[in-house]
Amino acid sequence: MTSAVADAHVEVKQDLKGNPGPILLLGAPGVGKGTQAKELAAKWGIPQISTGDLLRYNRDHGTPLGLKAKEIMAAGKLVPDDLVNQMVAERLKQPDTAQGYILDGYPRTLGQAAWLDQHIGAEAGVLPVIAVSIQVGYNELLRRITGRRICPVCGTIYNIYLQPPKVDEKCDLDGTPLVRRSDDTEEVFKERMRTYESQTAPVVEHYRALGRFEEVDGSQPVSAVAAGVEGAVERLRNSEQKQQNRVQG
Ligand SMILES: [Zn+2]
Repeated sequence: MTSAVADAHVEVKQDLKGNPGPILLLGAPGVGKGTQAKELAAKWGIPQISTGDLLRYNRDHGTPLGLKAKEIMAAGKLVPDDLVNQMVAERLKQPDTAQGYILDGYPRTLGQAAWLDQHIGAEAGVLPVIAVSIQVGYNELLRRITGRRICPVCGTIYNIYLQPPKVDEKCDLDGTPLVRRSDDTEEVFKERMRTYESQTAPVVEHYRALGRFEEVDGSQPVSAVAAGVEGAVERLRNSEQKQQNRVQG
């Protein structure tokens, strides 16, 4: 399996910049999906689509979907899958998604994944969805989040374990005492991980079972993770093309 995939990589290396197709970036909170999505979207010239941005956009522009979401959130409830799916559907109608896009933080539930599979599978000539999961160990994620400190003056972000300032708890640039965001605590992290394990981990297994899936080690430096994701996307697209050629030939 591994060697066949590696061969495909060498034989029919295609240029992702032209048409990378729909890509899902999956992973637990804090693995760096947003950072990777931004970097790769810029590199490939396709949009990065996050449900957080979609919610904000619809709310700020007072769209019918946004108004509905606002009402639900005001009542302290979670925006239901159906409403999120409709926002994604609207976004995917935009012409800038024609050559592909990176979905970051979506699908978050199996219900959303089932909807997405159907929605994208229904369109002729569109490349199938491929999924890349960024893997980072629990303790590493905990350190990334609980170690995060921000300079309230210049906004520089530090991590007391991974990227400490030269002087303890003080900004290198202006000497201001660093602050910790109120939700960068172990309690909040644990709660988010519980939600991830119960709702989103099954989404990862869903795409693993479909086979259009790879995992990337997210504990490496950002650029190495980006290279890993890029390699995974190339292999997945190439093995897909190889399969198509086999069917056609
Ligand atoms: Zn500063």
